[in-house]
Amino acid sequence: MFRAKLWANELDYRRTVLKVVLCIIIFAGSIFVVNNWLNGFKVYALIELAVVLFSVGLLAIHKKTPNLTLWSSLFLFAVYTVILIGIFTVAFKAALYTWLFLIPVLSYLLLGITLGNLFTCVYVITGVVALCKALFSDSSEIPLISVVNISLCLSAIWALSYTYESKRASMVKRLQQMASLDPLTGLHNRLLLDSSFEMLCESLPEQHQTMSMLLIDLDHFKKVNDKYGHDIGDKVLIEVARLINETRRLNDWAFRLGGEEFCMLIPDTSEQQAQNIAERIRLAIEKDIMIKNEDLTISVSIGVSHWPEDGQTLNQIYKLADERLYRAKETGRNKVIAR
Ligand code: GH3
Ligand code: MG
Ligand code: MG
Repeated sequence: MFRAKLWANELDYRRTVLKVVLCIIIFAGSIFVVNNWLNGFKVYALIELAVVLFSVGLLAIHKKTPNLTLWSSLFLFAVYTVILIGIFTVAFKAALYTWLFLIPVLSYLLLGITLGNLFTCVYVITGVVALCKALFSDSSEIPLISVVNISLCLSAIWALSYTYESKRASMVKRLQQMASLDPLTGLHNRLLLDSSFEMLCESLPEQHQTMSMLLIDLDHFKKVNDKYGHDIGDKVLIEVARLINETRRLNDWAFRLGGEEFCMLIPDTSEQQAQNIAERIRLAIEKDIMIKNEDLTISVSIGVSHWPEDGQTLNQIYKLADERLYRAKETGRNKVIAR
């Protein structure tokens, strides 16, 4: 749920596609309403009019609705059903079948792989059944080769749409991971700090609306790099991240903000609990991180602040945690300051 909220741009993409599709359906549908009405297919024209009106309504809400997938599914259901009613009721007209080619494209672009598979299977197969039914009817004037052509072309569009959507979705997922994870330690990066803070604030139930921030900075880390080299420095950072991650509960968030500075957001904790967690991390790093064959102790200083007591915004609690971290550095390092 958190991820879906963070990456709302995936839905933005679908909203844009839906807008384009709605405009096309409103335009084409209006022409068909008039044409079918004038040609005496009045019931069919009214059904098409209902779809056009539904599309206009959806166009008005498509930007804001939180139920985009539901509305898109209903819209496609309506459009596909109208296409199939036309195919089943009107005598074979090649032009009607051309609309079947849109089904895989629209389904995958608007609904993604899982629902796209479902809609494409149901409606393409029904369309092909209608086509075969028309082919084998007594009055059939359809050459077999036309049916073969339509079926092959439909299969090709289906396969291409499926491949496009599955590759697009996996690429987006990879880009999202690259954009949100620190490549060295695997923790979240700074980019995610703002949105995670907001989401945690929103998701906390009223009686548990507290959150602590831990700012963790390695002591004299420059000396480690200077003495043992950058590679060893990197290994130390990875170990620190591992120890921080080990203390993390399911709803806690851990970040590498950059360089040798880490951060934790810990929801639903008292000041005392947060201080205890910080102390546990400090001790674990002091005790557990050893560089092979070297007599070297790694330590961290930690500044702790609390939301909402220390400030309402992320900036405010970050500033206080940073001041406390600075005080920890100034007063000897390897310590936690929480007040
Ligand atoms: P202090 O106790 O005051 O925090 O001293 P410090 O030496 O830890 O802090 P300073 O800001 O002076 O130096 C931070 C060092 O962190 C400098 C830089 O070489 C090192 N550093 C930053 N990012 C990385 C990294 O990705 N890998 C490695 N190995 N070192 C890094
Ligand atoms: Mg440091
Ligand atoms: Mg630093």
